Amino acid sequence: MSEPHVLLLTLGGTIFMTESAGGGHAAPDAEAGRRLAATAVDGLRVTARQLANTSSSDLRPHHWRRVLEEARAAVDDGAVGVVLTHGTDTLEETAFALSRLWDREAPLVITGAMRPASAPGADGPANLRDALIAAADPAARGLGPLVVFDGMLHLADQVTKASSRSVSAFASHPVGPVGMVDDGRVVLLQRPLPRPAPLDLELPDALPRVPALIAGIDEDLALLDHLPTGAIAGLVIAGVGMGHVAPEAMDCIRRLLAAGIPVVVATRIATGGTSEHHYAYPGSEVDLLAAGAVMAGFLPPAQARLLLQLLLAAGVQDVRGAFRDAGPGRTGALPGPGTP
Ligand code: ASP
Repeated sequence: MSEPHVLLLTLGGTIFMTESAGGGHAAPDAEAGRRLAATAVDGLRVTARQLANTSSSDLRPHHWRRVLEEARAAVDDGAVGVVLTHGTDTLEETAFALSRLWDREAPLVITGAMRPASAPGADGPANLRDALIAAADPAARGLGPLVVFDGMLHLADQVTKASSRSVSAFASHPVGPVGMVDDGRVVLLQRPLPRPAPLDLELPDALPRVPALIAGIDEDLALLDHLPTGAIAGLVIAGVGMGHVAPEAMDCIRRLLAAGIPVVVATRIATGGTSEHHYAYPGSEVDLLAAGAVMAGFLPPAQARLLLQLLLAAGVQDVRGAFRDAGPGRTGALPGPGTP
């Protein structure tokens, strides 16, 4: 019997970078990419395809479109899974976007590295090996896209970059990694909730423009009143606490909502998410909901921004419902008195 096939797609990132002589600045290195792409795992046939070799802040929706095309074609042709290498800076965004678009049972596993390929203790080879193992493991099927990093397995819609320096750079909220890769196999640590249905969307080259602003003392958002009509399709606010804004910001939020521009309020706090029912004062969640804003639940601002962009691109009208469906325990599962 032939060995199971895993397709390795590569977009670049630190995993494919080397430092200049003397341990200087890291930059993309084609040779490092070729070496890593040749990573072998006993019992697997790995084929590699480079889609880009760039920093992850340089990636665009057309890269996701290409990943989906290549990954779907490989799986439909018999590959047991797909691995994608990616810079860590925006890895959580690609993971989240793919979690809303990947419509196959086969694992699509994303990984990267914090240390360049030339650095002592480079973490890329181990992460890549673990990712290939996870991509071929039946235990990882049906979980949607996954992130493998530092031995841990994260659900793509819960993972977030939690350290800008540590090789253990990723964490999952609200409940921690879904599993780990140990002794050459996937070990699941919890039973994941059902995934929301994938969006029916052919990715455009550019998603609708949705800025994300940070709330805080004396932030009245009045800057937005100076934008030309049609400049933004939606707004995400990283609120304070459980998703609150300064009372002065409410006027601008009401004007945007009256103009048909959806406003989603997440929290600038790393854990805990937003509420729909704890506070009722000007600028609180109850005030925001009454005005017509949407609370992002456990989705961090960057993921809330992406979800709103994808919903707008897909023409979804019920934005509040879609945010609630983004996952019980992440948005709508904590209903309380007065929750609309
Ligand atoms: N700046 C790099 C990138 O996101 C960081 C990394 O890959 O770790 O491409």
